[in-house]
Amino acid sequence: MSDSAPPLLFLDVDGPLIPFGATRHQLPDGYPVFEPEQGSGGTGGNPLIARIDPDLGPRLRALPCELVWATTWESEANECIAPWLGLPELPVVSWPEPPPAVGTDGLHWKTPALLRWAAGRPFAWVDDEINDTDRAWVEAHHPGRALLLRVDAWRGLTDADFTALDDWLRLPGG
Ligand SMILES: [Mg+2]
Repeated sequence: MSDSAPPLLFLDVDGPLIPFGATRHQLPDGYPVFEPEQGSGGTGGNPLIARIDPDLGPRLRALPCELVWATTWESEANECIAPWLGLPELPVVSWPEPPPAVGTDGLHWKTPALLRWAAGRPFAWVDDEINDTDRAWVEAHHPGRALLLRVDAWRGLTDADFTALDDWLRLPGG
């Protein structure tokens, strides 16, 4: 790792990119469904893919960071989602097998794996399941800077989320 390496951005898919959990009261017309961009890989027959706004791709790509998939989609994120968003193939965090129990001591099962992957490098993490236990654990165990950005799962990444990410990623020492 060189000093000029940009921060990492660990990106969850379900929630941040694919909104879910809305009630009819919140979104009376349901979720928007998007058409594939010219030259994109299409949905590959997965209806979830069409729920991802293709405009998120250029916006993610414009962030001053190294994007990393941090999702249970694992390598399928590169096969199905990256082409839809116009993103290159990205590094993928692999999770421990078998999946650890969820909810023990309140720490998200992804958190230790992300810190191992980051190996001290500054990182932002975008996920709809981040909680205060994760924040405290990262603070105690990660020597670099970190931004844990919890996204509302029912609406996904917002303009405000992108502003917060861009501001943080551009901070000196990021
Ligand atoms: Mg999620």
